[in-house]
Amino acid sequence: MTDRSAAAGGGDRGEGRDDDVIADVIGDVVGDIGPIEALVCDLDGVVYRGPAAVPHAVEVLRSVTVPIRYATNNASRTPDAVAEHLRSLGLDVKAADVITSAQAGAAAIAERLPGARVLAIGGEGVHHALLEAGLETTSRSDGADAVLQGYGSRVCAADLAEAAYAVRAGAWWVATNTDTTLPSDRGLAPGNGALIRAVELATGRSPDRVCGKPSPDLYLVASDSLGIEPARILAVGDRLDTDVEGANAAGMPSVLVLTGVADRAAVRTATPAQRPSLIIDDLRGLPGVVPTSTPRALG
Ligand SMILES: [Mg+2]
Repeated sequence: MTDRSAAAGGGDRGEGRDDDVIADVIGDVVGDIGPIEALVCDLDGVVYRGPAAVPHAVEVLRSVTVPIRYATNNASRTPDAVAEHLRSLGLDVKAADVITSAQAGAAAIAERLPGARVLAIGGEGVHHALLEAGLETTSRSDGADAVLQGYGSRVCAADLAEAAYAVRAGAWWVATNTDTTLPSDRGLAPGNGALIRAVELATGRSPDRVCGKPSPDLYLVASDSLGIEPARILAVGDRLDTDVEGANAAGMPSVLVLTGVADRAAVRTATPAQRPSLIIDDLRGLPGVVPTSTPRALG
């Protein structure tokens, strides 16, 4: 992660910024944010926690008058399923407004190996993304040109074995994300990063590409689909090591919202590559930074 941060485009926004100053200006702009023409919003810890909405998130996002894309590292669900969840919370969202790390992974494979046969490891979201990208999916390592490995609650040892066989045979190995844990209502479960690690131990190598945040891929896909340059899009997230670092790497200003993983103490010790442009307690801090229909009423 530190290797990537050295190359992060937005990292130098934090140079010379004093940690104590950052800690003291919660709720104030601490970096440069120009006119914002769109939002890219993280989901877990920002819009929902488990099935339920984060307080104030839905009312504020409904008032935003610029386009919103929802970008998630979680590859297990299809964009359709994510959009349906968001609609159930009261948001007006289409599948096309949702970008998953499975889609970014499939796009990376399609670009490098058009029409490839891909060993699909993960949930429905992984299979769906590969087919959508014009790739062939297989559940066996034999003849696989690439492996796309994402989280799925039913991924088992036999699936990881197929991945290891394919990787050892020379398949191009793409991870949707490397989050080691997955928050659940009963605690922290092994996330995709833990399952990737199992294949690493069996093969002695690491994935050729990781597409989820903190890689900039999801943000750049959002920028492309919106036709708006990264500097005019605001990334909203609850984690410094994924959402904010990815936004900085994409050259996108970012807002850290303290309704999820990161707290003030984390901001105080963040590396320059992981420093957000703005810190807010909850999404009621967005109006004024982002065009909304009710700029004052929610503050
Ligand atoms: Mg999150």
